[in-house]
Amino acid sequence: MLEEGSVETRTARGGVLILGGGFAGAYVARLLGQRGATIVSRENFMLYTPLLPEAASGTLEPRHTVVPLRVMCPQAELLLGELTAVDLAGRTATVETEGGTRTVRWLELVLALGAVPRTVPVPGLADNGLSFKSLPDAINLRNHVLRELEAADAEQDEAARRARLSFVFVGAGYAGVEALAELSDLVDDALRYYPRLRDTPRRWAIVDAAPKILPEIPSRLGEYAARELAERGVEIYVGTTLASISDREAVLGDGTRIPTRTMVWTAGVRPNPLLRELELPLDDRGRVEVDEFLRVRGLDGVWALGDCARVPNTRSAEPDPPTCQHALRQARRLAKNIAGTPEPYGYRMLGQVATLGRYKGIADVMGLRLRGFPGWFVTRSYHLYQLPLAQRRLRVVVDWTVALLFRRDVVELGMLGQPERLD
Ligand SMILES: Cc1cc2nc3c(=O)[nH]c(=O)nc-3n(C[C@H](O)[C@H](O)[C@H](O)COP(=O)(O)OP(=O)(O)OC[C@H]3O[C@@H](n4cnc5c(N)ncnc54)[C@H](O)[C@@H]3O)c2cc1C
Repeated sequence: MLEEGSVETRTARGGVLILGGGFAGAYVARLLGQRGATIVSRENFMLYTPLLPEAASGTLEPRHTVVPLRVMCPQAELLLGELTAVDLAGRTATVETEGGTRTVRWLELVLALGAVPRTVPVPGLADNGLSFKSLPDAINLRNHVLRELEAADAEQDEAARRARLSFVFVGAGYAGVEALAELSDLVDDALRYYPRLRDTPRRWAIVDAAPKILPEIPSRLGEYAARELAERGVEIYVGTTLASISDREAVLGDGTRIPTRTMVWTAGVRPNPLLRELELPLDDRGRVEVDEFLRVRGLDGVWALGDCARVPNTRSAEPDPPTCQHALRQARRLAKNIAGTPEPYGYRMLGQVATLGRYKGIADVMGLRLRGFPGWFVTRSYHLYQLPLAQRRLRVVVDWTVALLFRRDVVELGMLGQPERLD
């Protein structure tokens, strides 16, 4: 029996070690099936990120937006902990677990370490910005917004009350636009229970350095999304950046000053910085360089995919963007390449979808462009189809149905996970 803090050396199940149990890693393990694999992951679940905005607004129970890895990949072994080192020559990886340090031998290594929020040196960002990348981020954001409503209700000063009802999102890609739309629905619904705040104006602003919001989708749909947000009173600042942020005010590059206590940072991602310590071939953005078979260039038996890799696509002129749909297709190819004769990876994107809050959405699927209710319906149906495990899908459908029938829950549970100490 191993003592806590001890060191153990073991071999990965089936000889395959997958680093990262996110979208890409979990799917590779699931698709390897009987062949088996060992997954190293910080969490015992895979987060289905497209549903994160709905977890933040409370439409979905946060637990229902994740899939337990032990259920999703029953043939894989899960090693819960923090990957700290990889010895490429010795073919071992070191993982810090609750039970001590584990060294795992591998024959095939799959790098699926994902990305982290891409930040820039904006004064005050680290202290005052809210991240929106993980499940704790989504739960924290919801609790923060509901706390702001309580604080606004208690404020005597009109200007301070307005600042508490002002919300700034920096980054107008999918994550920023969807999160803003969902949270503004949450605030609209919640204010029904705050009669003192009924006449206080709310302010929602979205900021991006790009010349338009949602630059990754066809212009007509992007313009529709911009119009839809503007009609709701959302202020859109494009072609500008966040200059500074304090606990009282956001200042933009064009000189606009927005008194606020809430600034959500959704300005994209960069590859996991740990990759830089692993002596891997990286491109100028820090992504692992792989060939068309998803093999890391120059390394035998080492593969990479997902947000941490620069993946060439035989059916596209550009390397893949960091999205779930690409990570999933790469995982399908990679699992087959490990198990059999490798073939080149190629995937033509079928379309893109996004929700804009309640009953509104945009979808561009196989050339068909939908907006409004049909766009929203197609977006939800697509996510339901993509979500692994029938039991998870059912839970999500139940949450959506409950949200249609009942008013929104405005309980703020920020104290969860922080139990009182016993004296
Ligand atoms: C808010 C948000 C919304 C999004 N919405 C969409 C969308 O609607 N559609 C879409 O296609 N894409 C969307 N994306 C992008 C999508 O989530 C990513 O492209 C996808 O998750 C990439 O999968 P991955 O496995 O490469 O990375 P991840 O899913 O990030 O997984 C990486 C895993 O590695 C683990 N890890 C990292 N370092 C270590 C370590 N040292 N030790 C142990 N484990 C480690 C992490 O904990 C994580 O579990 C969204 C992303 C965000 C943040």
